[in-house]
Amino acid sequence: MFKRFIPFAHSQSIYEIEPEFYKRNNVKVLFMDLDNTLDSYKARVPQERTLELVKRIKEAGINPVIISNNKAKRVSGYANLLGVEFLSSAHKPFSRRIKKEIARRGLTNEDVMLVGDQMMTDVLAAHGAKIKVVLTEKVVKEDQWTTHINRIFDRPIRKYHRKRNNLVDWRNK
Ligand SMILES: [Mg+2]
Repeated sequence: MFKRFIPFAHSQSIYEIEPEFYKRNNVKVLFMDLDNTLDSYKARVPQERTLELVKRIKEAGINPVIISNNKAKRVSGYANLLGVEFLSSAHKPFSRRIKKEIARRGLTNEDVMLVGDQMMTDVLAAHGAKIKVVLTEKVVKEDQWTTHINRIFDRPIRKYHRKRNNLVDWRNK
């Protein structure tokens, strides 16, 4: 049941994933969700740890790209300060814009991975685009109001899959 919500791997946070994990999975471009994956939706300026994370990913030869459902106004400022490319209004859980982004970059599904904190948007969109996805926990408590409804569905499904050991730690992938 709920098979389409099973991620490729799980991590407590994007900050604990070693770039080596992406390398051994042949990731060339890493799609990163922004709100509650990298930072609070309220954060306008990236913290030191986010700058450090992006630096380490780039040093591993991987191109990090923010893929967010939030508006260009919110995403562009943060992404520019972080020095990464971005796609705003990504319309997750729909995968059309992600597929287009992969094609536009001349990549295949195998070259890309998505990291995000939500089953209802990130995991579904990744499966729709046939790319691997790492599900994380929320990086801060507070969510934007638009996310509250998703969480109502996310919580029990997450619990269901955790119980059945379907949330495999990234270290084992
Ligand atoms: Mg998010």
